[in-house]
Amino acid sequence: MNSAKRDEIFSRLRAANPHPTTELEYTTPFELLVAVVLSAQSTDKGVNLATRRLFPVANTPEAIHALGEAGLADFIKTIGLYKSKAKHLIATCRMLVELHGSQVPADRAALEALPGVGRKTANVILNTAFGQPTMAVDTHIFRVSNRIGLAPGKTVLEVEKKLLKTIPDEFRVDAHHWLILHGRYICQARKPKCGECIIADLCEYKGKTWPAPSSAFAAETAKPTRKAAGTPSAGAPRKRAKA
Ligand code: SF4
Repeated sequence: MNSAKRDEIFSRLRAANPHPTTELEYTTPFELLVAVVLSAQSTDKGVNLATRRLFPVANTPEAIHALGEAGLADFIKTIGLYKSKAKHLIATCRMLVELHGSQVPADRAALEALPGVGRKTANVILNTAFGQPTMAVDTHIFRVSNRIGLAPGKTVLEVEKKLLKTIPDEFRVDAHHWLILHGRYICQARKPKCGECIIADLCEYKGKTWPAPSSAFAAETAKPTRKAAGTPSAGAPRKRAKA
């Protein structure tokens, strides 16, 4: 994909949504960290339901650590892998208190040293909490980047690096959210909604899908016309009947 197309794609995504952000609910970098750790293999909606119960009771490293693994697990048991997530979060809280003055570090190496925090989670925190131009490539971004020709790559890291190298500076901080939202709601895995897509003319995907005609339209076009059925149309000259 050439740079003019890439520019136009992000210009349109920005025009449609000038201030994109995560759909996870949070008010502090620590709450965001907890929510992102919980969101692995879970939906943002499910995480929000759990954190709406948890955060009013405990939203600091000290408070969550004080709950203990079992106490925390009780708040998040509706989320997949909740036992291991509770274990990781309690260990993370302890490290934040002991090593980082109870603050979330704005540093990749320090973030990735926290239990349960990998490169993707670190990228989300650096981007969303600290405004750094990182690219957390999740399943949506990986699919969209490959499918539409934006940044084809066999691995998540390859796609991440290509995106960071090719996305113009002015779009880099928000590109992560635009691509996730585009993948989640429009360029969906099984059936992309190409008919609703604002970048369809720029997308290089060969298998675009278009909506089927409405049933009324289909019925109308399927009906034989009077002419086709051998009946002259109203405006056509009629053969004179034999006397
Ligand atoms: S046209 Fe279809 S395949 Fe291309 S980006 Fe839009 S939704 Fe995705």
